[in-house]
Formats: sequence, structure tokens, C-alpha cells
Amino acid sequence: MNPIIYAIPVFFALIGIELWVAHRRRANAYNFADAVCSIGLGAMSQVSGIFSKLVMLGIYVAVYEHLRLFSLDLRSVAAWLSGLLLYDFLYYWHHRMGHQVGVLWAAHVVHHQSEEFNLSTALRQTSSGFLFGWLFYLPMAVLGFPPLLFVAVGLIDLLYQYWIHTEQIGKLGWFDRVFASPSNHRVHHGVNDRYLDKNYGGILILWDRLFGTYADEDADEPVIYGTRSPLRRYDPVWSNLEVYAALARDAWRTRRWRDKLAVWWKPPGWRPGDLAASEAKPAFDPYVRSKYAPRVAPAVQIHVGVQFLLLMLIGADCLARAEQLPLAWGLGYAAWATASLVALCAWLEGRRRALVFDLVRLAVALAALGFSGRWFGAQWGGAVLLAIAAALAASMVAAVLVAFAATRRPTVASEP
Ligand SMILES: [Zn+2]
Ligand SMILES: [Zn+2]
Repeated sequence: MNPIIYAIPVFFALIGIELWVAHRRRANAYNFADAVCSIGLGAMSQVSGIFSKLVMLGIYVAVYEHLRLFSLDLRSVAAWLSGLLLYDFLYYWHHRMGHQVGVLWAAHVVHHQSEEFNLSTALRQTSSGFLFGWLFYLPMAVLGFPPLLFVAVGLIDLLYQYWIHTEQIGKLGWFDRVFASPSNHRVHHGVNDRYLDKNYGGILILWDRLFGTYADEDADEPVIYGTRSPLRRYDPVWSNLEVYAALARDAWRTRRWRDKLAVWWKPPGWRPGDLAASEAKPAFDPYVRSKYAPRVAPAVQIHVGVQFLLLMLIGADCLARAEQLPLAWGLGYAAWATASLVALCAWLEGRRRALVFDLVRLAVALAALGFSGRWFGAQWGGAVLLAIAAALAASMVAAVLVAFAATRRPTVASEP
């Protein structure tokens, strides 16, 4: 079973503590819609990971089986320590390239789209990292680190980074200059000139100091979070496709063949000469922009909150069972859960079509349950299935009532 499932209660408990600490300090740490979107993107990346890790791990295992130079022992402490150190070093370069190569940024951008910075931001992960991510870790396979060790140290590196996404922990002295920490990772998420493209380290920030990408957080310059081309959407599918679409558009529109290829590996923000000449873009100023915050009725927020909690349970079930399910059921379940998240985010964007999305996805699940007599392949008893059917039907009624309650036309409001 996916070990992340065991971490989920810890993630939520720590978010609860962060909310409580921020509340006591009268700080506004969370934006409801942003947090729903970030946590949803994390769930989506885990669910898509069920299928994509077959590619990533499959290549690692193939290289390990056929091309390894040494055979490191799983029982050796030195192998584990050197494996973690090497993974963290390779992660540094993977992450740095993720910010400096267009097509890699297209995957990593998801982690940076939030204009807030809290523990939910840590969960905001890409669903397309598997496309090129595996390339960076092949040296570990060649050196003979067993696949189990590789997966475990990767998980340790990822889980470590959870706690560094918070504004509630200040500077930590020497720790900030040795390890990745809340202070130096706030810098990483900044779009201010002095913070941009700094502090890539996963566990050790020493890599940044060694390779010249380290920056300290300056108390006189508050970090402005997000990206320099703000997403201004909550849609989780578009979050994942945004930059790929922009790169494909540029590659299509630019005339020179050299530029059509260069678009993919040049740094984010690079424009082919002929396109840049025809677009007058104002200079970037992080201090003049406003946060994306569509205003929606309280009824919509309550509906999305309830449906989101149910969807998290469904996501955990999907993670727990998808590997054992026949592929068609597993893919169908993952696609339905993703469509559900799209519907909830459409409500948060104040879109009129949210009601239609929501009713269609609920009706599809109800029909699938009715025809197959199962909840996406699960062998559950009649009483459970009846309860699920009742919950789906009640959700449809609630969606219609919420749409009536939210009669005031949603408007897009901006916070200064
Ligand atoms: Zn990054
Ligand atoms: Zn981060």
C-alpha cells in the first residue's frame, strides 16, 4: 500500500496546529479556496502517481538490473546514508533544472502557483513530473542503489519538505544555513527579484551555498509568493497543463525552426525573437499585482467543503485500492475523482457551469454504481452501497439548492 496514506492524518493534524497558531497570532494563514486547490492537486498527483510511477520505477529497475556497476547492500547503514545524501544532491539539480528549463518548469510550476504559503502549499504537487523526473536519478541505479532504497530515500526527502512550508516558524539561526527550513524555503517561493530562483535544496541547503544559489530571507523585504505569470485559476487540470500549453503555443506560432525547439529548453519567460517583438510586455513588478480571489457565496463554500472532505476519503480509497483493481476500473476511478475535483474548483471560481459539472459527475457515479452493483470495483456489502447511493443523491439535491442560494452573480474580487 502507498505509505503516503499513513502520512495523510499527520498532514492534516499539522495543518490544524498551523491554523491554531496563526489564529492566536491573528495572522491570516489560509485562503479556503487556495487550500482546497492545493490539497486537491496533491491528491491528484498521488492518484496519477499510481500509474506514472510504473514508468519512473520501471526505468530505474531496468537500469539497476542491467547497467549497475556495484551491488550495494540494503542492510548497510552506509548505503542508506550515502543513498540519502546522493538523492538529495540529485534532487537539488532536478529542482534547479525544474526552474531553468521550460519543459521541466511546465511540470514543477504546479508547486509554485499558490499565492499563499502554508502547509497546504507543500501538498501542491505536479502530476506530470514522471515525464522527465526519472532522468535525474539514474546515477543511483548505475551505482547500484537497490530500488527499495531509492524509493525510501525519495520518500524521506519529500516528507521532510512538508514542514518547511509555513510562515509560522521564523528564522532558526545556523539551521537555516545548513538545512532547508521555513525561512529559506519561503525565499524559494518568492517572485521578488532578490529571491527568484534561489534555495533549491530538499533537505540540505548546503548545496545552494556550494553552487551559488543561496539567498537569506530579508526581514525588510517580505516575500511575495507565486509565479511571475500568475495562473489566476483554481482548475487542477489547467494548473497542470498551463505551461505546456503556453510552450506549445509559442512553438506553433514562432516562425524559425530553431526557436520552435528552443522554446522547450529555454528558461521560463524566454520568448522567441519574432514573438517578443510583436508583444509589448510591461516590466514585472511583484508589488503591484493582486491576488486571485473570486468571491463566492458562503453556501458554495460549505457545499465545496463538505464535498471536498468526501472526495478526500474517496481519494484515500482510490490510493488504497487502485493497484489491486483491473486497470480499466483503476483508471476510471482516478478519472472520476479528477473530474470531481474539477467540478469543485469550478464552484470556487464562481463559474455558472459548476452546477452542471457537479450534477454530471454525481450522476455518472450513481449510474456506474447502479449498473455494476459495486463502488468502482470494491466488494462492499449492500448497506454500504446504499449509503453511498444516498450520499450521491443527497449531494445532487444539495448542489441544486446551493446554486439557487448563490443567486448573486459571482464577481472576481482582488485583494491588494
Ligand atoms: Zn521550486
Ligand atoms: Zn516548496
